[in-house]
Amino acid sequence: MTKKLHIKTYGCQMNVYDSARLAELLAPQGYALSDDAEGADLVVLNTCHIREKAAEKVYSELGRLRQRQDERAAAGGELRIAVAGCVAQAEGPEIMRRAPFVAAVVGPQSYHRLPAMLAGAPGAVATEFPAAEKFAALARQPTRPAASAFLTVQEGCDKFCTFCVVPYTRGSEFSRPAADLLAEAERLVAIGAREVTLLGQNVNAWHGAGPDGAPWTLGRLIRALAALPGLERLRYMTSHPLEMDDDLIAAHAEVPQLMPFLHLPVQSGSDRILRAMNRRHDADAYRRIIDRLRAAQPDLALSSDFIVGFPGETDADHKATLALIRDVGFAQAFSFKYSPRPGTPAATIEQQVPDHVMTARLAELQALVMRQQLAFNRACVGRTMDVLIDRPGKRPGQWIGKSPYMQSVVVDGPADWQGHLVETFIVDGYQNSLNGRVHGAASAAAA
Ligand code: SF4
Repeated sequence: MTKKLHIKTYGCQMNVYDSARLAELLAPQGYALSDDAEGADLVVLNTCHIREKAAEKVYSELGRLRQRQDERAAAGGELRIAVAGCVAQAEGPEIMRRAPFVAAVVGPQSYHRLPAMLAGAPGAVATEFPAAEKFAALARQPTRPAASAFLTVQEGCDKFCTFCVVPYTRGSEFSRPAADLLAEAERLVAIGAREVTLLGQNVNAWHGAGPDGAPWTLGRLIRALAALPGLERLRYMTSHPLEMDDDLIAAHAEVPQLMPFLHLPVQSGSDRILRAMNRRHDADAYRRIIDRLRAAQPDLALSSDFIVGFPGETDADHKATLALIRDVGFAQAFSFKYSPRPGTPAATIEQQVPDHVMTARLAELQALVMRQQLAFNRACVGRTMDVLIDRPGKRPGQWIGKSPYMQSVVVDGPADWQGHLVETFIVDGYQNSLNGRVHGAASAAAA
């Protein structure tokens, strides 16, 4: 009998990818994925530890699920609950202590064990780091076709930025073998993917032996993936400035499938703060990398992450960040107020910046980035670009797709356009989207 599985995914694309793999792993046990939690037989919370009070939010959600579990039991049914992801990794046994009704807790590197854990005694916790074992156990055939697909190539981080929990929750850097990645990308293309985004906490730290036995880095992998027939767009995220090597930069000039968009976090424009964050590069090194990237691909649009109010940040540090943003010019950026993560070195620094100061600095930084984003979007008006249609718009006959620069583009089109690449003339540019008029289908969706 088919059982209903609902996965609530928090956080980044890595978790979106992991949730899809979890659904594939549970399918042989009769679980069919549903977007709706109502009536689910199994609910998995795939958690993220990056945001503030992440663990408390998970405990609140578990409290709500407990009620639903009781109602289900009163009606003679059963709702099982599992917790996966980075909060599961960080909290492990504490989740079982505070929420003993949870059937299983699995860290990001152990989720391949979930089917066996659900079949065994309740209350199991798995938080080891067997990354190679996990990827070897993943389902061989993706179940949900999509024109734009994720492919995790690397996991974990050895950089130990002082504000970040990832090295503790995802473990040290692990690169999947090139042959596995080429095979998985081929399968994704075979079920309709035209765009593949390579994922990793430090994606550009990916390295390994290629099928030819030679040592490969990400640039070489991108070239090999670009040679796959039917794979028309490639992206990668999230990168670290230290790992932008010459070959990867050259790939931006030489590989037409590599989209002219790069998310390259810098976090701060102040050398003093970058040192305190243990980023291991200064602001000028970041500027020089951007110069080299733009020399290779003058059409490149850039995105970044900024943390505002890192402990000890002064007005002068903040101004240095604004200066870097003005110098580089971003098409979009993500910015957050600093908040301490338990267990990280920065959480113990005493000079925390007052919240009202952080709020004012964040508003100033975001206003600058929004001006740059609007200017970039408006500069696209009058251009023609390929748009990959990925979801219906709000009204009938309307579609939303992705430009090469990751903008959402709204177009009108026929009912069967899902997954089509359409040549689009941009007629309007707004803060967060573009409006386009389609010239003609650049190419139809793969069968
Ligand atoms: S490089 Fe990224 S993932 Fe690694 S510690 Fe720094 S912020 Fe976290």
